[in-house]
Amino acid sequence: MKYPVTTFRQLYYTCKEQRKQIFEVALENEVDKGDYSEYQVRLQAAKSLNAMKEAIQEGLKSTELSPSRMSGDDCDKLQRRYANTRSILGSTAEKIMIYALATSEQNLRMGTIVACPTAGSCGIVPSVLIAYAEENKIREDDEINALITAGEVGRIVSNKMALAGAVGGCQAECGVASAMAAAALTQMRGGTVKQVINAAALALKNILGLTCDPVCGLVEIPCVKRNPFLAIHAVTASELAMADIMSKIPPDEIVDAMEQTGQLMSPLLKESSKGGLATTKTALALEKNILK
Ligand code: SF4
Repeated sequence: MKYPVTTFRQLYYTCKEQRKQIFEVALENEVDKGDYSEYQVRLQAAKSLNAMKEAIQEGLKSTELSPSRMSGDDCDKLQRRYANTRSILGSTAEKIMIYALATSEQNLRMGTIVACPTAGSCGIVPSVLIAYAEENKIREDDEINALITAGEVGRIVSNKMALAGAVGGCQAECGVASAMAAAALTQMRGGTVKQVINAAALALKNILGLTCDPVCGLVEIPCVKRNPFLAIHAVTASELAMADIMSKIPPDEIVDAMEQTGQLMSPLLKESSKGGLATTKTALALEKNILK
């Protein structure tokens, strides 16, 4: 490879010129750094995928509340609902929401999860990727390709801004996770390179400005429920992208806008727990209760 890919534009043209898919370019980029072979990178991705699957299975079984006792039983509630009632969205979407809660609740129980890109947003990529793969009998190799595709989206965004609520608000955590999931899903559905990148762009564009205002300073409220919401957001992005509904703003400009939005956002809304949901009457009462 002549140059490292650092933007979505470069990624698109590299794929086009070399007639490659995103995961192939990402693998080549990684191997070019000289630390790992392609086999080793794929093996690491397979390990991460397995850890994601284990987190889901553990989360599905547990109703253990978090140490703060504010969360931990929502996955069970949703599973019980869908045991008897169908949602209006279909079985894959039901599974996605359940898996997103299962994983993010494992995070607050201090279980093993894969931060993708962060712990607070850990349920979004696994739920979309694994639920779709299970429902559509996707081969493990293709799941790994989708995971590498998701990673490439996260890597490119992270070239511009840190993927942390403290830096860019939740748009930089759950927003980027949603873009990664949208890309992975579109990859698994046989989308073109353009559609995969556009899915990520649509997901990012439509979540700009999302604040980070965790109640009591804990990655629980709103984080846990934000995971199923942003997972379904990724599905919407993929649906639109597969219909060739293009983001009129190019993906790299969306990332620029996200960085600027993060800079303009008040520090009170960037993980300080000094604004937004964290300073509502109920949040303050919850905090007092926990401190007791
Ligand atoms: S609200 Fe803040 S802490 Fe919670 S997931 Fe979003 S960025 Fe992370």
